[in-house]
Amino acid sequence: MAVVWCDIHQIVSTNDDGYDVDSVYAECKKCGAKSDEIWGTSETSINRALMNLKESCPKKENNFYKESKF
Ligand SMILES: [Zn+2]
Repeated sequence: MAVVWCDIHQIVSTNDDGYDVDSVYAECKKCGAKSDEIWGTSETSINRALMNLKESCPKKENNFYKESKF
């Protein structure tokens, strides 16, 4: 299992009620795939974005996605 580093981007998204919410999405530094936008900016939301990236990362490898601090 390889570690793939990801950038976590903070964005403002719109929720189902039309309100702006701080959100995050993860971007794979290896292939550029992006996760869905996940509402919230907590550790839980970041982890959800990283998990979600697993589905959109084209390589479909069983990688372990980690937030890059650099
Ligand atoms: Zn990737």
